[in-house]
Amino acid sequence: MADFSDLTLDVAKLRRDFPILDREVHGKPLIYLDNAATSQTPRQVIEVFDDYYGRYNANIHRGLHTLSDEATAAFEGTRETVRAFLNAADHREIVFTRGTTEAINLVANAWGRANLKAGDEVLISRLEHHSNIVPWQLLAGELGFTIKVIPVDERGVLDLAAYRDLFTERTRLVAVNHVSNAFGTVNPVAEMARVAHEHGARILIDGAQAAPHQAIDVQAIDADFYAFSGHKVYGPTGVGVLYGRAELLEAMPPWQGGGEMIKTVSLEVPTTFADIPHKFEAGTPAIAEVIALGRALRWVSAIGLPLIGAWEARLLEHATEGVQGIEGLRILGTAPDKAGVLSFVVDGAHSQDIGLLIDQLGVAIRTGHHCAQPLLSQFGLDATCRASFAAYNTPEEIDVFVEGLERVVGMLR
Ligand code: PMP
Repeated sequence: MADFSDLTLDVAKLRRDFPILDREVHGKPLIYLDNAATSQTPRQVIEVFDDYYGRYNANIHRGLHTLSDEATAAFEGTRETVRAFLNAADHREIVFTRGTTEAINLVANAWGRANLKAGDEVLISRLEHHSNIVPWQLLAGELGFTIKVIPVDERGVLDLAAYRDLFTERTRLVAVNHVSNAFGTVNPVAEMARVAHEHGARILIDGAQAAPHQAIDVQAIDADFYAFSGHKVYGPTGVGVLYGRAELLEAMPPWQGGGEMIKTVSLEVPTTFADIPHKFEAGTPAIAEVIALGRALRWVSAIGLPLIGAWEARLLEHATEGVQGIEGLRILGTAPDKAGVLSFVVDGAHSQDIGLLIDQLGVAIRTGHHCAQPLLSQFGLDATCRASFAAYNTPEEIDVFVEGLERVVGMLR
């Protein structure tokens, strides 16, 4: 069994922050192992909603009354929290979005439309989530640029030699994830950024699965764009972040038009736009969600991402050892550098059936294509089972999961 004794994480105390972990599912204690889809929310974050709607619910930036000033201060304060979380150089480089998906669509539509044309090339990888594939396909269909794909080996590791060979003088952008949601592979994004920049290309990093598990430093990575979602990092749904290098954001045209993103609007002379980041935040944002995201990031930072990452790595080791004894089980994604994601299939047992039956034991795992169909198709699969870990999971929960899986597989085969 993996040894957890050197890690100082007080998991019993931490779990008390999560009311949902007290609930039962089908009469069994909930064991939540679907964290890569959405993590659970600590009460400190839930309380933000009561506090906001109970005390200072008001639209922001339109001020001149106390509630609006308070809401604006809390909202803009979160921008600084996110800046520090990503170690961005400037809070103006932080744009609030609905999530990673919207952040990538923003880059595609604002940066992409201004910078890509027929004959250009965009590199993505076979490890991508659909949200870092489809926006580029939609735009390529309109603008006529080419999408080239970085291949993946049988372990789920990107082929870096092939990556270097894909560059030509027409390569404008690399769009890759930091951590794969389907297999857990951690990609060497700093090295990939270096290569991209050497060729005069920009790099967008989808950090949806990295932000919950490791400290992010966009300056050390030298990222041009970096996106993540609140709901995977102990925050609420409906909010996410796009980091963009200031000079890139400044040069980009707006994407959505409306209130909040303008300086002056005229029907006679051209409308002028707000400075960054507000140019990209048209309309009333998800104010409570943004403030709650700030609270979530402070919660995470107080525990410390290095400790959370180390804890999850130990959980992964323990789970990997545990499931290896199950006959016919095959793990997908065996990269040497992996986040807390265990993807597997079992010969003779449908992933869907495994998911449904193990749910009866109170264990929540995900089954399906994980929005990564191109990756799964390389392995001849249309679905896997995926257990993914968070700071509040325990080795004892992993033991229940492994025993449950043994039982379920025994019933199905
Ligand atoms: N990229 C990756 C790697 C993801 O795991 C996810 C969520 N599964 C997304 C993007 C999309 O995130 P969201 O649905 O929060 O926009």
